[in-house]
Amino acid sequence: MSATDLLRLSAAELGEKVRAGETTSVEAAGAYLDRIAEVEGDIHAYLHLDRETALAQARAVDERIAAGEDPGPLAGVPVAHKDVFTTEDMPTTAASKILADWRPPYDATVTARLRRAGTVILGKTNMDEFAMGSSTENSAFGATRNPWNPDRIPGGSSGGSSAAVAAFEAPLATGTDTGGSIRQPAAVCGLVGAKPTYGGSSRYGLIAFASSLDTPGPIARNVLDAALLHEAFSGHDPRDSTSVDAPVPPVVEAARRADVAGLRVGVVRELGGEGYQPGVQQRFQESVELLESLGAKVVEVSCPSFDAALAAYYLIAPSECSSNLARFDAMRYGLRVGDDGGRSAEEVMSLTRAEGFGPEVKRRIILGTYALSSGYYDAYYGSAQQVRTLVKRDFDAAFENVDVLVSPTTPTTAFPIGERTGDPMSMYLADLCTIPSNLAGNAALSVPCGLAPEDGLPVGLQIMAPALADDRTYRVGAAVEAALAERRGGPLLSENAYAV
Ligand code: GLN
Repeated sequence: MSATDLLRLSAAELGEKVRAGETTSVEAAGAYLDRIAEVEGDIHAYLHLDRETALAQARAVDERIAAGEDPGPLAGVPVAHKDVFTTEDMPTTAASKILADWRPPYDATVTARLRRAGTVILGKTNMDEFAMGSSTENSAFGATRNPWNPDRIPGGSSGGSSAAVAAFEAPLATGTDTGGSIRQPAAVCGLVGAKPTYGGSSRYGLIAFASSLDTPGPIARNVLDAALLHEAFSGHDPRDSTSVDAPVPPVVEAARRADVAGLRVGVVRELGGEGYQPGVQQRFQESVELLESLGAKVVEVSCPSFDAALAAYYLIAPSECSSNLARFDAMRYGLRVGDDGGRSAEEVMSLTRAEGFGPEVKRRIILGTYALSSGYYDAYYGSAQQVRTLVKRDFDAAFENVDVLVSPTTPTTAFPIGERTGDPMSMYLADLCTIPSNLAGNAALSVPCGLAPEDGLPVGLQIMAPALADDRTYRVGAAVEAALAERRGGPLLSENAYAV
């Protein structure tokens, strides 16, 4: 097979060909590494690449298969891994100067399961520092570009992962979603991204941002590939105290089933309308009509507390981050500044944190510390937690009458690099539609639903389901994907400038 043919295969197809002996893991990894060498100068999706380590993993997978082992459907398939998961054989930085060159002593559970499944980790992907951001511009190591238009952001915080997959520098990628960081970058890069049910995928070895919200999940070019990756690394983990001890929902089966006949779909009134980009609204409306034409029963649903979700999130997430990031103290790991023998530990900590953290991370630590301080705790953190309960109740009430809820994934398409960096509030608004599912902990997925007519950039449809009903999001996503591909006469992604 030619290298281009290999790159064009879906992850599912590539895995099948490796198992059937039609290609090898080494050949697939080589094709992707060459592709990375070709386009990485334009895209900057990766923070760490090491050809030899990747090829050594690929050789080991080929040996496992030759010895009669069957690691599963993704054996031999390369993966781009977000640089927030620890990896024993590669640095892990969370795109922060404070962790530059840090080599973790252990693998995250997600990493270990990727290896067990026989996937090959090509490298570590760029992100907003500590996953705080919506554009990947908060990386300490430079921005990533959107393959659809290199002057635009690839979304964030998992923007290296989304750009890598959209530029065919990887067939699959991992991400983490605390307020939207998988669904939003997937949406603005024309990809599928899923935020599993909170606790459905392990946080062990994931550098913490906001522990009650952080959720690892897949980014892929199509729904079935996302489901395969979801299944490969999810499931109960005794090393994560908030891990759910329940079977992984049947997401792969659901992606193959792809039917919505009789399904009750709720359109969330609060997520859409005024303030949304017209082309986003238009494609969303068409998706709703498409679902109806496929036999779904569509109703409008009101979730009034969603209006306060963004504000509550920007108290809860910074509060948790202010506590989680206290561990970067110049003593235990990473950067140490000013340790000249004459300074106190406190001075060294302060100098290190001043130099090691970027402006957005500092803003959040200050905000969170303030919100948690005595005298303000009840007014800020306490009321944010009450809003969180109300958001959860809105979901519960909605799911009594519908099977899934839908909305646009983001209010706009990918915005120009630099446009929102001076205005944190406008940056935060990128996650308006995704945050409610993080607060409630339920499952959600974004699937491409067309290009906005005004700028030719991808639009995402968000599908939300109750906790542990992740399979429903895949079922609906796959149905939309199939119907749209049929209408267009091919996949949307082929229109992107970096498609092969
Ligand atoms: N953009 C949101 C934030 O900045 C969400 C980030 C995320 O999901 N990691 O907090």
